[in-house]
Amino acid sequence: MRKITIAIDGYSSTGKSTVAKQLADYLSYVYVDTGAMYRSITLYALNEGIIKGDELNKEALIAALPKIEVAFSYDSDSGTSQVLLNGERVGSAIRTLEVSEHVSPVAAIPEVRKKLVAIQHQMGKEGGIVMDGRDIGTVVFPNAELKIFMTADAAERAKRRYLELKNRGDDITYDEVYENVTERDRIDTTRADSPLVKAADAIEIDNTETNLEDQFHTILQLAKDRIAGRI
Ligand code: C5P
Repeated sequence: MRKITIAIDGYSSTGKSTVAKQLADYLSYVYVDTGAMYRSITLYALNEGIIKGDELNKEALIAALPKIEVAFSYDSDSGTSQVLLNGERVGSAIRTLEVSEHVSPVAAIPEVRKKLVAIQHQMGKEGGIVMDGRDIGTVVFPNAELKIFMTADAAERAKRRYLELKNRGDDITYDEVYENVTERDRIDTTRADSPLVKAADAIEIDNTETNLEDQFHTILQLAKDRIAGRI
């Protein structure tokens, strides 16, 4: 059966990675969480003092890019892939509110995008991939056979992300998370390089009121139809 490319873009905390992972598992495709790549570079900048307080030293980050390696490794125990920053697993460290608060300005730097998009092209060149992010259907794989654009009400998205962070023990408030989700949307949609925008041929899914199970089946059906050439 032919292996297609599935691009899932959309606003922060719309559940893109959950559905992307489910689809990849079901279809035996590779799943790539591109947000994790931008988060890893942000973590590097925080660890190295390239971000201090609210100040991001763009020149220093651009100069450090050749020293930053972002990759994925498949973990057969958990059946998931882990993001590696210079060989170290950072899957959990990149999910903090601190990283979320600094990632969008980092992701707006064209040199950062160029580096990560090159890796993404390499990973997806054989097809059989589900990639989620902000620019996958528009910039990274404009010819993807299936493009999904996910949206949901901002308060609902903030609530979901808040509960996720709270459940893992992070010390945060709902208001901080709401502020972060909406601020990232603002920066991601207005940046000059590869802004978040729905591709003309993307199918929009608003999941404010949809349960994740139903959403998965809707998108899976679209994928099956596209693979079989029915749509
Ligand atoms: O998907 P996630 O919310 O983890 O992404 C974190 C941030 O990384 C986004 O808010 C955005 O600034 C950036 N990003 C991007 N392009 C992508 C994926 C993520 O600019 N393809």
